[in-house]
Amino acid sequence: AEEYGINRWGAPYFSISPEGSILVRPTQAGPEIDLNRLVDRLCDRGLELPILIRFNDILRDRLNALNQCFQQAIREERYDNRYQCVFPIKVNQQREVIQQVLDESRKLGFGVEAGSKPELLAAIAMSDPTLPIICNGFKDEEFIRLAMMAQKLGRTVFPVVEKASELDLIFRVAKEVGVRPRLGIRVKLATRGSGRWEASGGYRSKFGLTVAQVLHALDRMIEQGYADCFEILHFHLGSQISDIRQVKTAITEASRIYVDLKRRGAKMGYLDVGGGLGVDYTGTHSDSESSMNYSTQEYANDVVSHVKRVCDEAGVTHPILMTETGRAVAAHHSVLVLDTLGVSQPGLPELPTWAKPATAESTADASNLLPSGPPENYEQPVKTLWESYRNLTPANHMETFHDAEVALDMCIHLFGGGYLPLEQRVDAENLFFAVCQRVREIAKDKGDGTIPEELAHLDRMLSDIYFVNFSLFQSLPDAWAIDQIFPIMPTRRLTEEPTRNAVLGDITCDSDGKVDSFICGEGRNDTLRVHPLREQERYTLAVFLVGAYQEILGDLHNLFGDTHAVHVQCHDDALKICSIVKGDTVSEVLSYVQYEDRELLDRIGQNIEDAIDSERIDQQQAGRMAKAFEAALAGYTYLSPIVDRTPLE
Ligand code: PLP
Repeated sequence: AEEYGINRWGAPYFSISPEGSILVRPTQAGPEIDLNRLVDRLCDRGLELPILIRFNDILRDRLNALNQCFQQAIREERYDNRYQCVFPIKVNQQREVIQQVLDESRKLGFGVEAGSKPELLAAIAMSDPTLPIICNGFKDEEFIRLAMMAQKLGRTVFPVVEKASELDLIFRVAKEVGVRPRLGIRVKLATRGSGRWEASGGYRSKFGLTVAQVLHALDRMIEQGYADCFEILHFHLGSQISDIRQVKTAITEASRIYVDLKRRGAKMGYLDVGGGLGVDYTGTHSDSESSMNYSTQEYANDVVSHVKRVCDEAGVTHPILMTETGRAVAAHHSVLVLDTLGVSQPGLPELPTWAKPATAESTADASNLLPSGPPENYEQPVKTLWESYRNLTPANHMETFHDAEVALDMCIHLFGGGYLPLEQRVDAENLFFAVCQRVREIAKDKGDGTIPEELAHLDRMLSDIYFVNFSLFQSLPDAWAIDQIFPIMPTRRLTEEPTRNAVLGDITCDSDGKVDSFICGEGRNDTLRVHPLREQERYTLAVFLVGAYQEILGDLHNLFGDTHAVHVQCHDDALKICSIVKGDTVSEVLSYVQYEDRELLDRIGQNIEDAIDSERIDQQQAGRMAKAFEAALAGYTYLSPIVDRTPLE
């Protein structure tokens, strides 16, 4: 458990039992679920990995926990108004996910946020009059008309003005539809967030009105008798704010703008502080990009106390506090379970026969079992590598390592010039890797298990590559695009010491399709500690905290489609599988790029006919082939494990 940091990033939902099982505890009062047993149950039903498991109860628990933090802050600060979260649909638009969010939001008095016409339509259709809908993002006339029509139907819809020209459009369309609009304005703060999304805030941010534009808009609304329509002041600093100081500064700045606008005649009653509440993906509680240096409670305390202080000083009534918290609500509830297909071990070099000790059977002189050494005609740098390998000791390991690096460079140059035969190059590389292997061991033995900076790259260079049945681009796009770190760990053999270091390669034909940044104890590592694969035994890995943004940002690179997704929920101390959403079939992903089954099968069928005519295949083979192509179209886009890995008991 220490190895993978699960107690830090996983709390309170994920832990490891003393018997080495990953346990999921969706709610504090509910049952503990053994992740492997759940996966075995799904596989018994014929579902293949990769599978995304969504724990509905965790999603609901996150909403409740957020609410509780704000309720506590409101109580302690004697804040004189309420809190409301509007979940941004863009974080995870899957219907089943939104259904859970809406069901819980109804109880908590929360709402949703939509940023496009499709999201707005989904929000209108899936929610009901009790749930407010905030509309962010740039809008055209149709977008605004949809919002106004929804209002006419009795819904609470707030378009948020993101650019100055939207204001007139809203008033015109509202008039045509026959409603009095209720709207918000997004203001550009001077404060910027921190971390990856810091450009979402600040003067140069893409969205929002400058303070001057907001004042101008307010004056116009007052002049035209629309002052009561302006209900929400909104800002958004950017997602995954890692440093709480930015939150404090932004809230204070926004509150000052809020009270000043009130003094100038705005009727607003809401302050919407946007998203940004972070997720501690690494569990390090730091201000690094994949972490955060504060808790949800601290965030809630800061929002509530800073707004209160500024409003009290100005004698302005406390606004309803809104957050558009997405990531922190959705990330924890999804776990991606993956199967390992095989391993490549560049760090386990095959020494040349002449570098290995002779065996008693292979030599006439059984008293001399020393390796025979390189053949006479070998080039000097290969001989140097052999000397380095043979004479390596703890006392000279750094010097020897440098010699070996230079010798290998020379070998590669000679090879490039056509002066080194291929077999000598192979021997040189194998010797070099063998030197590196021993240098790393010596360095680790000498230190406290860690190795000096100059040799740090050896861990990655000598690590195994575990091939994993998934597409990074489909399932963990942020790991590729922005080097987001996600907690990843094996799910089995956790009582056994992991003796191999590995990076993970996905199954796309893209060398970027790899994971080489992992959480290790309290830090980050280039490799993941794993167990050696065993024949005929499944070795599964789980990726945690993938419920926010990953699914919808994922793409069809190499036409690997959506994975299977399974929704599970606890009922009376038992875990129920609520629904299984089958992943894309080959036929479906092909249809996204305009291939039609019928046409494909016709063309392949023509090929089969030609092969029969030219007697390359017989009728039976033709029949079997036609069936196989048809079956492939209906199949999963991921690979089937080559060996039949039976699940561990
Ligand atoms: N609101 C707006 C306007 C956003 O752009 C975003 C995303 O960046 C969010 C809310 C959600 O942010 P988060 O998921 O960090 O809570």
